[in-house]
Amino acid sequence: MGDQLNCNHSWFETTDHSITYVMMEIRTETDYATHHIQKTAGFFAAMRQFSNFLKSKKHQCIYIKINDKDNLQSLEANLSNIIEKDHYTKFEYQLPDEYRVDLILKNFTSKLGIASKVYDTQHFFSTRDELGKFFEGKKSFLMESFYRAMRKKHQVLMSGENPITGQWNYDEENRKKLPKNHKPAAPLVFNNNVSDIVDAILQTDINTMGVIDKTNFIWPINRDQSLELLSHFVTECLPLFGTYQDAMIPNEWSLYHSRLSFSLNTKMISPAEVIEAAIGAWQKQPEIIAYNQLEGFVRQIIGWREYMRGIYWLKMPEYATLNFFNHQEKLPQWFWTGKTKMNCLKDAITQSLTFAYAHHIQRLMITGNFALLAGTDPEEVDQWYLGIYIDALDWVEITNTRGMSQFADGGIVGTKPYVSSAAYIDKMSHYCGTCFYNKTKKTGDRSCPFNSLYWNFYDKHEAKLAHNPRIGMMYKVWHRMKPEDKTALLEQADYYLKHINEL
Ligand SMILES: Cc1cc2nc3c(=O)[nH]c(=O)nc-3n(C[C@H](O)[C@H](O)[C@H](O)COP(=O)(O)OP(=O)(O)OC[C@H]3O[C@@H](n4cnc5c(N)ncnc54)[C@H](O)[C@@H]3O)c2cc1C
Ligand code: SF4
Repeated sequence: MGDQLNCNHSWFETTDHSITYVMMEIRTETDYATHHIQKTAGFFAAMRQFSNFLKSKKHQCIYIKINDKDNLQSLEANLSNIIEKDHYTKFEYQLPDEYRVDLILKNFTSKLGIASKVYDTQHFFSTRDELGKFFEGKKSFLMESFYRAMRKKHQVLMSGENPITGQWNYDEENRKKLPKNHKPAAPLVFNNNVSDIVDAILQTDINTMGVIDKTNFIWPINRDQSLELLSHFVTECLPLFGTYQDAMIPNEWSLYHSRLSFSLNTKMISPAEVIEAAIGAWQKQPEIIAYNQLEGFVRQIIGWREYMRGIYWLKMPEYATLNFFNHQEKLPQWFWTGKTKMNCLKDAITQSLTFAYAHHIQRLMITGNFALLAGTDPEEVDQWYLGIYIDALDWVEITNTRGMSQFADGGIVGTKPYVSSAAYIDKMSHYCGTCFYNKTKKTGDRSCPFNSLYWNFYDKHEAKLAHNPRIGMMYKVWHRMKPEDKTALLEQADYYLKHINEL
């Protein structure tokens, strides 16, 4: 699979010519969502590099390209064809991470006339069902508890049962706004030539979004480049990773983030080696990399990433249908163009279309925040996130989007909806100063849409949210407002929702 490019998997330790590895670029994968062209090209490029690796190690490999004449364009059809033609006697595969592909393979092997066997991908810290067992009988699924259990189990920054510093969480020291004149480290980008692939994608009329520079493709497409990006991250970005983890600034698209999600999700590198590299760098230079930076990063990988995967396998397939608020709206058209007067959204969407990337807080507190306040159908939101980001795979996209960002799961992943008015966005970014809209205005001409939509959201969902202890305060503020102010806010929100494509 395109997300199973693990050179260090035990499968590849020895060469056995009775085994043939099969890899394929197929329409069922390019067409289940409208993907960013960099995502489709990136996956194909990384797959082709991986097949070169297999061949260099003298493994036998059949590689079917997207425009090969005999490509039957689905996993089952291509596999059946190969098995029948060359009389294979056994079919083996690695556990897929996506429910959709898992079903396809289970169905396929159940009808197959030959023996089959499934292997672990040897990538994650936890197994598919580990989180389910950990929270068995519990009503809530606190990420923090699972994170601590993972730290203990794998002895990451631990001294026996306790964290080495005596403290688990350093969020308090992190998440600062970027000073105005601060110039972040320049992102390390690659200059891969993926012209062949892009031409094939265009030739086969695959629907895509976004743009690509096909002779200077910026993302890592093999293990060596992924390791180079990791090394760049630990020296250039980790020293300020935690501090500016939630910061946003126009025209700086990655700040101190690692941009390792594509390498990780394709399994070109493993979470264990990423953590090891970060810890190694901190041990070597604790005066440059403070512990809070390191812990903030380790938490993302061994905490959030493993947690989201566990939730996915515990809650699928129902999870993909959850819509707690019963939201039904469409995304505004400018989500596909970036053409909006709202500076924060213009920046986050434009950079997503340009780089197939936005960092976490842009995904959560800009695009996700707006989609939720606008009452968008989580299905629409999922499709957008699943398509636009280079790292988007169902298991980690849907849990973040439907769960963390849209609260469509009613609070499995998050304890409250991540919504905000302009105040939070202004606190964490430099977007508002040059915006067409006025961050301090709640109603009237040029009032920031986040302000009225925020109160409209709380008003609309009071029955579902008022009992949540983390939001009770907001309802106290809302109820104390003068009736005429409340009416003005709701009317303003209504106007903006009716003219959403013009914002
Ligand atoms: C609405 C929404 C959709 C998202 N969709 C995806 C997705 O499709 N694929 C994806 O990999 N991540 C997704 N995320 C999580 C996170 O935003 C990305 O992992 C991160 O932005 C990738 O950039 P980075 O590698 O520079 O991350 P960094 O900020 O450098 O973090 C390091 C690594 O930690 C992991 N990580 C951090 N936060 C999360 C998280 N919440 N869940 C899982 N892993 C995390 C990632 O592997 C990431 O590479 C989404 C978040 C939101 C709010
Ligand atoms: S004023 Fe409102 S729309 Fe403009 S950048 Fe700030 S939060 Fe975004």
